Amino acid sequence: KEEIEKVKAVVRNVPDFPEPGIQFKDLTTLFKNPAALGIVRQAMVDLYRDKGVTKVVGIEARGFIGGAILAADLDAGFVPLRKPGKLPAETIKKSYAKEYGTDTIEIHRDAITPDDVVVLHDDLLATGGTMMAAYELVKAMNPKKIYLNFICGLTALHGRDVFPKDVEVTTLFDF
Ligand code: IMP
Repeated sequence: KEEIEKVKAVVRNVPDFPEPGIQFKDLTTLFKNPAALGIVRQAMVDLYRDKGVTKVVGIEARGFIGGAILAADLDAGFVPLRKPGKLPAETIKKSYAKEYGTDTIEIHRDAITPDDVVVLHDDLLATGGTMMAAYELVKAMNPKKIYLNFICGLTALHGRDVFPKDVEVTTLFDF
């Protein structure tokens, strides 16, 4: 859609970040642009409006921004999924392989219940490793349904291929 093309156009390319040879998609230029943020907000709420969503889980840290907006627009709750040692109450955690070494994510044990319909949100889908770990962590809490949502996807990395085929994965736009 034409509106989404406008949003794509305000995403900033940062060469050699965080390391030489990597081209980073910087969504802060989207978030600071009121028109672009409004289009993203509307597109996200339109996707899930009729799906009975009760919780939006945002992945630290950039997934907190869109995740919190979506939760508020859906009249759902917001749940942070965080790096280890940040959440104060009892958590469950999951480690996953990264390009170099492993990473761990955590969620409060009482944050999701079997009554919940969940949208898991992050800003960007690259290899899918982060979201797959988040999906497995939340899946273990037995919610009724889990949707996966990203603002942006990098198609060259084939991140969609890592998720089970029956899971609905949505990106608003792709590079
Ligand atoms: P993945 O696990 O390889 O899919 O990487 C996705 C995670 O890394 C997300 O949490 C993103 O916020 C972050 N990420 C990776 N590449 C980029 C990028 O180019 N721009 C913004 N975030 C990125």
